[in-house]
Amino acid sequence: MTRAGAGRDPRIVIIGAGPTGLGAGYRLDELGYDDWVLLEAGDRVGGLATSFVDEAGFTWDIGGHVMFSHYDYYDRLVDRLMGGEYSTLDREAWVWMEDRFIPYPFQNNIRDLEPQTVFDCLMGAIRAAAAADTAPPPADFGEWVTQTMGDGIGRHFMIPYNFKVWATPADRMSFNWIGERVSVVDVEALLRNVLFDKPEKRWGPNSTFTYPLRGGTGHLYEGMRRFVEHKLELGTRAVAVDPVARCVTTADGRTFPYDVLLTTMPLDALVPAVQGAPDAVRAAATRLTSSGSHIVGIGVDRPTDSDKNWIYFPEPDVPFYRVTYLSNYSPYITPQPGQLALLTETSHSAFKHEDPDTIVDRVVDGLVRTGLLTDEDRGRIVSRWHCAPAQSYPVPTVERDEALGTIQPWLRAQDIWSRGRFGGWLYEIGNMDHSAMQGVEFVDHVLRGEPETVWIPRGEGAAGAGIR
Ligand SMILES: Cc1cc2nc3c(=O)[nH]c(=O)nc-3n(C[C@H](O)[C@H](O)[C@H](O)COP(=O)(O)OP(=O)(O)OC[C@H]3O[C@@H](n4cnc5c(N)ncnc54)[C@H](O)[C@@H]3O)c2cc1C
Repeated sequence: MTRAGAGRDPRIVIIGAGPTGLGAGYRLDELGYDDWVLLEAGDRVGGLATSFVDEAGFTWDIGGHVMFSHYDYYDRLVDRLMGGEYSTLDREAWVWMEDRFIPYPFQNNIRDLEPQTVFDCLMGAIRAAAAADTAPPPADFGEWVTQTMGDGIGRHFMIPYNFKVWATPADRMSFNWIGERVSVVDVEALLRNVLFDKPEKRWGPNSTFTYPLRGGTGHLYEGMRRFVEHKLELGTRAVAVDPVARCVTTADGRTFPYDVLLTTMPLDALVPAVQGAPDAVRAAATRLTSSGSHIVGIGVDRPTDSDKNWIYFPEPDVPFYRVTYLSNYSPYITPQPGQLALLTETSHSAFKHEDPDTIVDRVVDGLVRTGLLTDEDRGRIVSRWHCAPAQSYPVPTVERDEALGTIQPWLRAQDIWSRGRFGGWLYEIGNMDHSAMQGVEFVDHVLRGEPETVWIPRGEGAAGAGIR
């Protein structure tokens, strides 16, 4: 098997055994290709899609992960790995605000809010619709919200909620990541909802999703391990890349020569590690920003008393932006039947400080304040799990695409493919299915000359194939 134009099989090095690196390794194994190695800094596979079983026996993910796919290949992969061993769930997503639950998406279900809030949202949306033809192009996410949804929905939900998720002010964020991620307001649907009591819950790509019956989200990626085991180097952190000598140096002093490099390490760590990277590329990498998370799981020794899957929290009185009823996903999430598992997510950044020492207590207080737990439940808590990934969301800032437009073409010119959630730094293709498919398509492109369809190029060569 020979790469188009090359005289021999290329030696492939992959950095990172998260979904992207595993997707590449799985595909290489499927094609029977032999000349590759997979380097992973940690002691397990799965990256941000790993699951953990805590000392009390609860299974936790690094934040609410649900599986939905845009790709047939990924669907077949999931079927092959999990057989029938997964739950299929209809999304029960809700928003908690003004001391009540309203169905998600908020902007289609405002009827249950306070009359003043309903009025603000309606009037804002009507004004936005009336101005739609004459409004100048929005400069940032905040302006986009006002122009497409109105200032009422912006003020009451979109701006505070998105600040809690991204830990980034709306005027620093762009809006070109939105695509299918945000439900855009339709004034007629809004009026129907308010006047005729028409709830709208089936919006978006994850309105139905699956979840592994056992082992949490990470079970899927643990299942991929057997296809890459023979090429997997755990505990092997890449610390330098020499694009002239074409080799990766690892923290233990070994070197791994390559012809083609697939890296999934965060771009802002990769670029400084590539020897000879031009100043402009280095400077661009410092302009990429991300948020970190405190993921706190609370296990309670009493039955789950809700059929909700997850709840969004836009208001600032509780730290988390989302809580998942993980015990509703599978009966095997909790060590004993009849227990409750609540998985909470709180983001942080330079714009939004969250004290790591108090976060678990503040999460419990927030769960009590919002009625998900009672005061008596405090005494029934049997697990407090805390995990704090330093980077969890690649923020689509207004500067991002210009920075990527400087970084990406230079890396490609060195035969370095930086892909995946933080390798690509593109939230819009940062889910598990996107990531695994970027790994698969990297292999098909390098070995078979097939186009990458998931990847979104920025900068030179960005026009044309690949942009969706
Ligand atoms: C809070 C949260 C919620 C999410 N929810 C969903 C969801 O509901 N549905 C969904 O589909 N996706 C979801 N995701 C996204 C999903 O986790 C990612 O798509 C996926 O993990 C990205 O895979 P990756 O391989 O690109 O990167 P990662 O998972 O980050 O893996 C990268 C790997 O590279 C390794 N590595 C890094 N640096 C080095 C180095 N120098 N040398 C060697 N190895 C290195 C890391 O240890 C890691 O194992 C969520 C993510 C988060 C954070």
